[in-house]
Amino acid sequence: MPLPDFLIDRYRDWKNNSFVKKSKIYKDAESNGQKPKAMIVTCCDSRVHPIKIFNAEIGDFFIHKNIANLIPRYYSNSDHSETLAAIEYGVKNLKISEIIILGHSKCGGIEHAHNYFSDKNNTPKNLFIDSWIQNIKPAYLKLDSKLKKENQIQSLEKLSIINSISNLKKIPIIKELALENKIRIHGLWFEIATGKLMYLDDKSIEFETINY
Ligand SMILES: [Zn+2]
Repeated sequence: MPLPDFLIDRYRDWKNNSFVKKSKIYKDAESNGQKPKAMIVTCCDSRVHPIKIFNAEIGDFFIHKNIANLIPRYYSNSDHSETLAAIEYGVKNLKISEIIILGHSKCGGIEHAHNYFSDKNNTPKNLFIDSWIQNIKPAYLKLDSKLKKENQIQSLEKLSIINSISNLKKIPIIKELALENKIRIHGLWFEIATGKLMYLDDKSIEFETINY
């Protein structure tokens, strides 16, 4: 089956232009190996690109994407171990000391979880997603039920980042590194329409807009 034309066209354009201009960066990146400055766990959403938001070059970030940028709870025989494996590789093999959980506005995964948990008669309809979003349940239980639905979803996007950070801190290797002050964890929420980036203040546990 041939690769669709739109992919071949884009590849040709990238190879003839961007790649040619930066060919030394690519060559060095291969011979020197990767030494990313941070790990970013973000959503599969096609509108959320850390490389664009942080104007990054190849090699800058070790990026893991999953539905709704979740860190699952750690158990010794964890399901959903793909995300945990990426974290383990990032901190052990690549010696990354900054981990960022990057959530975003209008997150389909978070909305799905909200609809799923709000409907008391709900039964699982999806082979994988309904199981994956169970990771959002502890955050959902903290929602202010007086908020309007749209505000609840945005609140859940942020509460889920806080929950993922809590799960991250319980992973044994992260616990060890935290005790030695060798790891820093950051929560970010990105608003697609405005480009606004909010940072989780770990003292107030509130998201504050990043001023620049
Ligand atoms: Zn999302």
